[in-house]
Amino acid sequence: MKVLKFGGTSVANAQNIEKVKNIVANSSKNEKAVVVVSAFGGVTDMLIKASLLAASQNESYKNVLEEIEDKHLKTIQELIDINNQSKVISNVKRELNVLETLLEGAFLIGETTPKLLDKIVGYGELLSSYIINEYFIKEGIDSVHKNSKLLIKTDDSFGKAVVDFKATNELCENYFGTVTYQVIVAPGFVASSAKGEATTLGRGGSDYTAAIIAAAVNTETLEIWTDVSGMYTANPKLVKQAFAIPHISYEEAMELSHFGAKVLYPPTIQPVLSKGISIHIKNTFAPEEEGTLITKSSNGKARAVRGISHVENISLLSLEGSGMVGIHGISKRFFEVLSEAKVSVVFITQASSEHSICIGVASDDAEKAKSALEKAFEYEMTLKKINPVMVENDLAIIALVGDNMKSHQGLSGRMFSALGKNNVNIRAIAQGASERNISAVINKNDVKKALNTLHEQFFEDNVKQLNLFVMGVGNVGEKFLAQIEQQRKFLKKQLKLNIRVVALSNSKKMVFDENGLDLKNWKELLNNGEKTGLDAFYQKVKELNLRNSIFVDNTANEAVAKTYEHYLNDSISVVTCNKIAASSPYKNYLKLKELSRQYNAPFLFETNVGAGLPIIDTLKHLIASGDKITKIQAVLSGSLNFVFNNFNDKTDFHEVVKQAQDEGYTEPDPKIDLSGIDVMRKILILARESGNELDIEQIENEAFLPQESLDTSNVDDFYKSLVKNKAHFDTIYKEAANKDCRLKYVAQFENGKAKVGLQHVPQDHPFYNLEGKDNIVLFFTERYSEQPLLIKGAGAGADVTASGIFADIIRIGNF
Ligand code: ADP
Ligand code: ASP
Ligand code: MG
Repeated sequence: MKVLKFGGTSVANAQNIEKVKNIVANSSKNEKAVVVVSAFGGVTDMLIKASLLAASQNESYKNVLEEIEDKHLKTIQELIDINNQSKVISNVKRELNVLETLLEGAFLIGETTPKLLDKIVGYGELLSSYIINEYFIKEGIDSVHKNSKLLIKTDDSFGKAVVDFKATNELCENYFGTVTYQVIVAPGFVASSAKGEATTLGRGGSDYTAAIIAAAVNTETLEIWTDVSGMYTANPKLVKQAFAIPHISYEEAMELSHFGAKVLYPPTIQPVLSKGISIHIKNTFAPEEEGTLITKSSNGKARAVRGISHVENISLLSLEGSGMVGIHGISKRFFEVLSEAKVSVVFITQASSEHSICIGVASDDAEKAKSALEKAFEYEMTLKKINPVMVENDLAIIALVGDNMKSHQGLSGRMFSALGKNNVNIRAIAQGASERNISAVINKNDVKKALNTLHEQFFEDNVKQLNLFVMGVGNVGEKFLAQIEQQRKFLKKQLKLNIRVVALSNSKKMVFDENGLDLKNWKELLNNGEKTGLDAFYQKVKELNLRNSIFVDNTANEAVAKTYEHYLNDSISVVTCNKIAASSPYKNYLKLKELSRQYNAPFLFETNVGAGLPIIDTLKHLIASGDKITKIQAVLSGSLNFVFNNFNDKTDFHEVVKQAQDEGYTEPDPKIDLSGIDVMRKILILARESGNELDIEQIENEAFLPQESLDTSNVDDFYKSLVKNKAHFDTIYKEAANKDCRLKYVAQFENGKAKVGLQHVPQDHPFYNLEGKDNIVLFFTERYSEQPLLIKGAGAGADVTASGIFADIIRIGNF
C-alpha cells in the first residue's frame, strides 16, 4: 500500500485536481493507494476568518462563507459533468448548511471556543476529500472516501491535538487491512477525541495525517506532493537561488522544518522515523523532477550545511541579575514555569557566567511567558536580586542545519562574519549540542538579506552577488553601465561575481528593480521611473535591505557626496568618482573613513586621482606593506595636460580648452580644471591617503589664469575672458618654448606641504613627453628612494573613469 498526500495548492482548483488524478491513477495501477488531501488552497484560512468575524459579531462572516461555497461549487462544476453533478452539489450544500449553523452559533453568542473552531476548520478537508473522491470515481478510478476522523484518535487539546497512537494504529490496521478499493481518499488534518468530538492536528497537519497512516499500514515510502520540487536549501520564496536538496536525513529535515521550512509539518517525521519509512517530497506541478528523499542517513559526501531556515515572529526574553549566579535550580524553575504556562521555547542561551538566561519564544506567547516568569520570581525581584524580565519583539531566528556540520571547523565564524559584513545585527546565538544546528536571533527586517547572504556563503559556490545603486548616468555613468552589461557574463564565470544594477537615478528620476534592471533598456526604464530625491533614493535602498549593497556616485555633485555617511552607516559600500567628499574638510574625510572601518563597508574613490589608473590602490599597498611616502610629484590633470599639449603658437588657448571640454576631458565647469582646484583636490587626496592631515586651504596654488578669468561666475563668461586674455596665454607659451621647455601643470607634496602650478619642464624630465591627456605620478618612498615608483597612463575620459569605478566594485567583490 502507498500513501500520497496532496497539499492545498495541489488541490486548489479543478485544473490542479486533474493533475492529482493523473498522479494517483498512475501510482495506484499495481498497488493500493491512500490519498490524503488538504483543504482546497486558502479554504482553511477562510474558515478561520469566518469564525473570527462571527465571534466578533461581524455579519461579514456571511460573505466569507459565500466565497467558500462558490469555490467548492465552481470546482465541482468544472470537474464533474452536468449529469452527475446534482448529487455531489446537494451533499456539499448540506454540509455547508451545517457549517453555516455553526457559524451562526458563534455569531449569536459572540465567541468561538477552541472546540467549536476545530469543528469549523475541519470542513475544508472534509469537503475537498469528498469532492475529489467523487471526481476519481467518475474518472473510472476504483476509489472510496474514508473520513480520517474515524481513523485518527487524539486527546482533546483542540487546535493541535495529541495523537493516541495505540487507538489510531488499531483503527487503521483494521480498516486498511480489509478495504477492497484500490484508492482510498481521506481528509488530512482532521481527527476526533475519544468522545468522538472533532479535533485537528494543527496548521499544516495534513502531512502528519499522511505520516500517521503510512506508519500504521507500514508503507515503504510516504509521498508528500506539494507546490515546490522538494525541501529546498532555503525558502524559495525568499531566496531565488535556493534549490531542492536531493537527499537529506530525518534529523536534518526535522531541524529544517522545525526552524520554519513549511514544506513539511514538523511532527510528520516522528511516526515514519521509528518505522524507517522514507519520505519523498514531490512537486505536483513538475512530477518529473526528482524531489527530496528523506531517509535515515543522508549522502555522506554532501555539503556540511544542508539548508538554512528561519522562523519569524520571535520574541526574546531575558532574565538577569546578580542573584542568579551560583544558585541551584534557577533554570529548572525558569523552564518549569514556562512549561506550566504552555509556552514552547524555541531557542535557549545561557551565558557561562550564569548571570543571565535568554530564550526565544513565539511572539504570541511573549506576554504570557513574561507574566508567568515575573510571578514565579517575584520574591527575588522585590529583593532586586533578579531584574524584571526584558522582552524584545520583532525578531526572527535563522538557522544553519546539517548533520555533518560538527566535523567542519569555522562554519559559525563564516556565518557570523558574512552576516556582520552585511550589517545584520545578531541578538543571540545558540548551537545545539548535536551541532546539527547553529541559530541566531536577528531583526525581522533583516531576514531576507540574512538568508540570501548565508545562502550565497554556503551554497552558491562562491558566486557573490553585488547589488549596485547607481546615481548619475552622464558621460561616465553611461559608459559604466555599458561596461557592466558587456562584462557581466565574464565576471560571473571568471571572478564569481554576479553584478546587478538594482537602481538608477539621474537628477530627475529614479528606477528600482530588486531583481536587477535590464541594462539593455535602462534609458527607457529610467524615463518611466518615479521622481527622484537624495533622501527618497536612500530610503528605498535602505528599505530593500539587500546584501552586498554598493552605492555608486557618478556625479560631481556636492549634495550627493553629503549622503555617503548614511550609506556607510548602514554598511552599504560607497564607490565614487566624485572628488568632493575625499577632498572636503579633513574632519569629514576622516569621519567617512572611520564609518567605513566601523561598519565594514568599503569607501573607494580610486577614480578621484588619475581616472582608471591604479594610483590610490598602489599607494595603499605601499603603506600597508610598511613603506613611507617621502615625496609625490605628479601631473594629475588629464585636461590641463591635453590643453598644454595642444596649445602652441598656432592655436588659440580658448579653442583648445573648448576642444578638451567637448571631448569630455574636463569637469562640466572647465574653470575647476584651469584654476587648479581639481589638481589641488587630487594632491590633497594623495597626501591624505599617504597618512597626512591636510586641508585644501593649506595648498599653495600659483594660478596661471588672469584674475579676471578666475572671477567669472559662469562657463560662458569664463570662455569670454579666455578670448579676451589671448595675449596673456600666448606669453605663457612663448616663455616656456624659448627655454626649450614644455608647460606642465605639476602637483607636488613633500615635507607635509603641497603645491600646484604651471612649470617649465625640460627635455630630460620624465614629465616632458607626457602625451595627450595622460597623467603621471612619481612616488618617492623609503623603498623607492633613488628611482621613484612611476605610474603613467590615460588620466581622463569617461571610458577610463568608468573602468576605474568598475575596478573599485570588483575590489569590493573580492573584499
Ligand atoms: P502544502 O499546501 O502542499 O502543504 P505548504 O504551503 O504547506 O504546501 O508548503 C510548501 C511551501 O513551503 C512552499 O511553497 C514554500 O513557499 C514553503 N517553504 C518554506 N521553506 C521551504 C523550504 N526550505 N523548502 C521548500 N519549501 C519551503
Ligand atoms: N488545511 C490545513 C491548513 O491549512 C492543513 C494542511 O493543509 O496541511 O493548515
Ligand atoms: Mg503544508
